[in-house]
Amino acid sequence: MGIVVENVNKQFGDFLALDNINLEIRTGSLVALLGPSGSGKSTLLRLIAGLEKPDHGKIFLTGKDATDQDVRDRNIGFVFQHYALFKHMTVRKNIAFGLEIRKESKEKIAARVEELLELIQLKGLGNRYPSQLSGGQRQRVALARALAVEPSVLLLDEPFGALDAKVRKELRAWLRRLHDEVHVTSVFVTHDQEEAMEVSDEIVVMNKGRIEQIGTPAQVYDNPATPFVMSFIGPVNVLPASRDRVSEFHQIHKHSASEDVYIRPRDILIETEASANSISARITRLIHLGWEIQAELVLGDGQVLTAHLTRERFDELNLQPQQYVHIQPRDAKSFALDYSI
Ligand code: ADP
Ligand code: MG
Repeated sequence: MGIVVENVNKQFGDFLALDNINLEIRTGSLVALLGPSGSGKSTLLRLIAGLEKPDHGKIFLTGKDATDQDVRDRNIGFVFQHYALFKHMTVRKNIAFGLEIRKESKEKIAARVEELLELIQLKGLGNRYPSQLSGGQRQRVALARALAVEPSVLLLDEPFGALDAKVRKELRAWLRRLHDEVHVTSVFVTHDQEEAMEVSDEIVVMNKGRIEQIGTPAQVYDNPATPFVMSFIGPVNVLPASRDRVSEFHQIHKHSASEDVYIRPRDILIETEASANSISARITRLIHLGWEIQAELVLGDGQVLTAHLTRERFDELNLQPQQYVHIQPRDAKSFALDYSI
């Protein structure tokens, strides 16, 4: 295993930032820590790095107990959102920094720097200063600087968080390709589920200092372990449990009235003809999202739902605002009792 976190707790004052964390990260894999702001992602990363000490538990790096090891002895590369490059140094000097501290030979440093410039696709820009680079280029240099010393673990804390959406998307794809070349065990922190899905081999979903689920992007999307994971990974409709009156949906689909029901917008099928278990709904709004259409629906009992359908299907049905349609949920989940029709 590249990284093992065993029964780790971390408290700040009386606030429990990490609550009994257990995690194994395979050597050479790229794992995302995904969760909302304040869920403990950066704290966990800082513990792996050795910038913080756990109150309880152990951390193993490449098979060795690193719990009491100093940050400088852990052979870790870091990239942070605002980890500024040295402004007065060229790109080349920035990348060489860690190797120079290690007093490597001039020839070895020069060769490694050229190799990294090629890897980050900035070959002609070695003599520039950070102020002469775009934000995306600067983060690529930061990554090259982290990789220069051949770390056994690479830690990335929202590395693209400060960049605009288009550059972020480009860098995600680039990071994935880069990882496929260098294979360094990497932990990538993000609060953006799409980013986590696109970049990582496995996703660790965190909430309130705990791990809610660990799985591949497909596993956490298709089989969310908890309502939190289901709501955090992609959009979802929640049909709340109700004590006083059983909703039409709960009734027709035989859900226990005491359970919230979760359905993804893509799993609400719209038909123009009624069928056995369909529910009548009125379209209140149709929103064009480019490759798909979002339909806002209201059921007879006032429950509001969002459905997504392909453009093709939308054209086929020729849907109009205020039209009455019939809906069929394809995959509804309630977490006490999993249920599909
Ligand atoms: P995330 O990276 O998921 O946004 P963090 O790990 O940074 O979350 O923080 C988790 C919680 O721990 C937050 O509520 C934060 O305020 C708290 N926290 C983090 N570091 C400290 C600290 N040094 N002192 C006190 N509270 C902290
Ligand atoms: Mg953070």
